[in-house]
Amino acid sequence: MLVGVPKEIKTHEYRVGLTPAAVREYVQRGHKVLVQSGAGAGIGASDDIYRQAGADIAKTAQDVFKSADMVVKVKEPQLEECAQLREGQILFTYLHLAPDPQQTAALIKSGCTAVAYETVTDERGGLPLLAPMSEVAGRLAIEAAGVALKRPAGGRGLLIGGVPGVPAGRVVVVGGGVVGLHAARMAVGLGAEVTILDRSLPRLRELDEMFAGRVRTLYSTFEALDNEVAAADVVIGAVLVPGASAPKLVSRDKLKTMKPGAVIVDVAIDQGGCFETSHATTHAEPTYVVDGVIHYCVANMPGAVPVTSSHALNNATLPFGLALATSGLNALLANPHLRNGLNVHKGKVTYKAVADSLNLPY
Ligand code: NAD
Repeated sequence: MLVGVPKEIKTHEYRVGLTPAAVREYVQRGHKVLVQSGAGAGIGASDDIYRQAGADIAKTAQDVFKSADMVVKVKEPQLEECAQLREGQILFTYLHLAPDPQQTAALIKSGCTAVAYETVTDERGGLPLLAPMSEVAGRLAIEAAGVALKRPAGGRGLLIGGVPGVPAGRVVVVGGGVVGLHAARMAVGLGAEVTILDRSLPRLRELDEMFAGRVRTLYSTFEALDNEVAAADVVIGAVLVPGASAPKLVSRDKLKTMKPGAVIVDVAIDQGGCFETSHATTHAEPTYVVDGVIHYCVANMPGAVPVTSSHALNNATLPFGLALATSGLNALLANPHLRNGLNVHKGKVTYKAVADSLNLPY
């Protein structure tokens, strides 16, 4: 199969769909890889490094889209990219279609087969291709909160971990999955007072054991949320209902109960966000203020650390990408977990939660 890797074009997105090490794996199994010139610049991988790994270099994205049997990317295709996709071509990337009717319509129109990283599953019910980026985003969330909390940035002027004799900041993590776990780890590491809320009791039990009493766990009722959010210095939004839009857990009214200069980091913004007042921002302008509360809602947080993120992403996507390259659509029939990644095929939405979110036939 000819596998194409265009340069990412979303604002401040520096990751790349295939690292040179991954290219070598494809080439060793007899596939051809066509990489757009400069696609690896954000991770310090020049065209020459890709050539050494066995790739051919294309001058433009159009060259890649035109010849590739499968396009491997990182972020959802922008509209100009969707326009270049065609029936019979596989797209393997993050899509996050539920809150994005425009992209969904464009993918339907293209006729391509779009396999979304974020809905591929594993035998334990986890999301193995979302997990590495969630690990990165969770860790970054606390760094982002630490920056936003500083007075010159408009924050409360609080050091997350406090100092001896002065209390630490209160960090509330809503959703104790992969993002939540890694945010909590960082916050605990800095010395913060950390509470994790989740709707899954088994998960709360696991977290309780992992942190050995170093975090508070709370079942996520609206009552518990209201109380925690009002007392928090930092709230991390980390919920997920797979494939669906994030539930809105904090209304504008409740935002008014928060301390002035408190910080919200809505990591779940790529699924629409879990605060009523969230809207997606970029690394160029990551924050805005509503009712005195700083909102950080960058939809592609891992893009800021492309070296770590591209390698972590490729470690997870490689076996699935190789299966698609080797067996084409048969790989979806052979592996129900990869099949769960199928979101759009030949002009139809094939993932129920996406269809339901957008009122489309399934
Ligand atoms: P996950 O499935 O590992 O965890 C989600 C958790 O949310 C689960 O434990 C679930 O029980 C919990 N949950 C569901 N409804 C809840 C509710 N009402 N209250 C409290 N908890 C609830 O998912 P994840 O990998 O941690 O991802 C979380 C979100 O972060 C997703 O939307 C994901 O797409 C997003 N994400 C964003 C970025 C970014 O750059 N902004 C990067 C990576 C992941």
